[in-house]
Amino acid sequence: MTLATNLPTTQTRSTAATFTGLKCKECGADYEAKAIHVCEYCFGPLEVVYDYSALRRTVTRESIQAGPNSIWRYRAFLPVASDNPIDVGTGMTPLVKANRLARRLGLKNLYIKNDAVNMPTLSFKDRVVSVALTRARELGFTTVSCASTGNLANSTAAIAAYAGLECCVFIPSDLEAGKVLGTLIYGPTVIAVHGNYDQVNRLCSEVANTHGWGFVNINLRPYYSEGSKTLGYEVAEQLGWQLPDHIVAPLASGSLFTKIHKGFQEFIKVGLVDEKPVRFSGAQAEGCSPIAQAYRDNQDFITPVKPRTIAKSIAIGNPADGVYALEIARKTNGNIESVNDQEIIDGIKLLAETEGIFTETAGGTTVAVLKKLVEAGKINPDETTVVYITGNGLKTQEAVQGYIGEPLTIEPKLEAFERALERAQTLGRLDWQPVTV
Ligand SMILES: *Cc1c(COP(=O)(O)O)cnc(C)c1O
Repeated sequence: MTLATNLPTTQTRSTAATFTGLKCKECGADYEAKAIHVCEYCFGPLEVVYDYSALRRTVTRESIQAGPNSIWRYRAFLPVASDNPIDVGTGMTPLVKANRLARRLGLKNLYIKNDAVNMPTLSFKDRVVSVALTRARELGFTTVSCASTGNLANSTAAIAAYAGLECCVFIPSDLEAGKVLGTLIYGPTVIAVHGNYDQVNRLCSEVANTHGWGFVNINLRPYYSEGSKTLGYEVAEQLGWQLPDHIVAPLASGSLFTKIHKGFQEFIKVGLVDEKPVRFSGAQAEGCSPIAQAYRDNQDFITPVKPRTIAKSIAIGNPADGVYALEIARKTNGNIESVNDQEIIDGIKLLAETEGIFTETAGGTTVAVLKKLVEAGKINPDETTVVYITGNGLKTQEAVQGYIGEPLTIEPKLEAFERALERAQTLGRLDWQPVTV
């Protein structure tokens, strides 16, 4: 395989584009929709700008419903120009009414947005990568890349394979086996760096400058991050074109959290849903909780930390969108909480045992924070609450190894089974308790 050093030359333009360019989130400076992500004047992050009055005129609930059963039904709200985006069936994951988990926690209207079964690589990252690689192709990149905590590498490698793009991904060298294997299988170049995500990310910024590759979460970040808005759109549509009262989502860089908020705001702006206040609560792992710490300390800046947690997929010590996430949690009357590694494991088990959903450590963190917020009286039992489960537990098996019991191993004889059954019963297994043998 060849990883060409190529600076993109073509600029695809299409009448189908609904976005008009990029804008600095801090100083408001305008930019062309190229592969850039920081403002030249103030170093603020760049964000995609849309023509909302045109969207208001052309997009209806019906036109969305007539679209594909994937994130591309919201194409008008995504920063791509071509009429044939890379569609690997990403999105439109189930919104599950979680009655058993709700009862356990003392809630009445709890939903799970289940991206543990998102396609093709079982995490929400397939959304952002589908958008980023579509835009990468439009901008003329032939090699794509990323700095990843695991899921992003899976997703970039898989979707690059589908799209026929060359791929080189960067990961910290201590990732879970399932995340590494789940990247290598697609045949990209995988660079495992001795260092944490923040160090990987810094290295990648340098590579992006020297090799001219499309880094989905660096020079393509303005496009990439827009893909997370679909987590907001889908929930609104799946609730019957209504917004929930409260959402709980994990925070790594904080991007996903801020984009769910942007998605809801856009649907209000173009008249697809009625305006309503939605509370935004964020979840972090105690071993990497710079945003939760700033929230608790009532500060409006983030002090970077060195991650130490089993929740590797959300272990970002210097979160790029941390201040924006803080702002949203505060202004929506939400919360940001953190939980320790044992609570994360318990959260994974609780979700599995009540709802039949096996999530990874990020999902365990989110469920554990949900529980903590309910116990602290910070979620009203009547609120329609949506919990975002962003990744699949089969990828982080080592996190729960040793905490879930063992099978009862027997000879292939009926009497052996009867003895095992007796043993299982004497273990006093209640409906919701794990079997520990
Ligand atoms: C990347 C990731 C997140 C958080 O993403 P940010 O947008 O960086 O906050 C959450 N959950 C999982 C499983 C992830 O892989």
